[in-house]
Amino acid sequence: MRLLLVEDDDMIAETVLGAMRRSGYAIDWAEDGRAAELSLGNGVYDLVLLDLGLPKKDGIDVLNTYRKSGGAAPVIILTARDAVEERIRGLDAGADDYLIKPFDLDELAARVRALLRRRTGQKQPIYAHGELTLDPAAHEVTKGGEVLPLVPREFALLQALIEEPTRVFTKAALEEKLYGWGEEVGSNTIEVHVHSLRRKIGAEQVVTVRGVGYRLKRC
Ligand code: CA
Repeated sequence: MRLLLVEDDDMIAETVLGAMRRSGYAIDWAEDGRAAELSLGNGVYDLVLLDLGLPKKDGIDVLNTYRKSGGAAPVIILTARDAVEERIRGLDAGADDYLIKPFDLDELAARVRALLRRRTGQKQPIYAHGELTLDPAAHEVTKGGEVLPLVPREFALLQALIEEPTRVFTKAALEEKLYGWGEEVGSNTIEVHVHSLRRKIGAEQVVTVRGVGYRLKRC
C-alpha cells in the first residue's frame, strides 16, 4: 500500500511517517499544497492523509482539485480541534474521514485500515483467500491456520495481491505499492520478494503470468 502524507509540520510529519512505515505502508511526504498536487497527479496512492492549513495552496483546494480530476483514493483530513467548519468543508469536498490533532497513532492506523478495506469492498477485517488469511491489524498471515513469519515487504506484497485477488500486477505496479520516493529499488527487487514469499506461503500460491506479472492462484 502506498500512502501520501500532506503536512507542513515537520514534527507531526516525522511521527506519522515513522508510524505508517512501521505498519508496513510505503508513504511519501508532501510539505505544501503545490507539492501535494504534483504528487497526486501520479495517481499511485491508495490513501491520502491531508492537513488543511498548508503553505502555497490550501488543503481544501487541493482536495477539490483532486476529486474534480477524478482522483478516487480515500482521504483522511488532519485538523485542529476548533476547526469544525473546516472539517465540514473538507467532508463536503470529498474527504472520507477526519482526525483531530493531536491524534493517537493507533487510531490513525485503524482508520487507515478501515478505509483501505472499504476501498476494495472488503467487509471483514481479515482477508481470506483459499487456505491463506491476512490480518492487517495484527500484521499476521496464516496458511491452514498456521502463522507464517513474513518480513514487512513480503507482507506488503501479499497484501497487495490478496486485496485484488484477480488482478495481474506488473512489476512496476508492485514497486509503486511497496516503495516510496527515494527508496532504492533494484531491477530484480520484486522477483526477489516474490521468490521469498513463495518459499513461505507455497510456490503455487503466486502465479507468474508470463510477460505480464503476478497474481494469486485462483481458488
Ligand atoms: Ca498545517
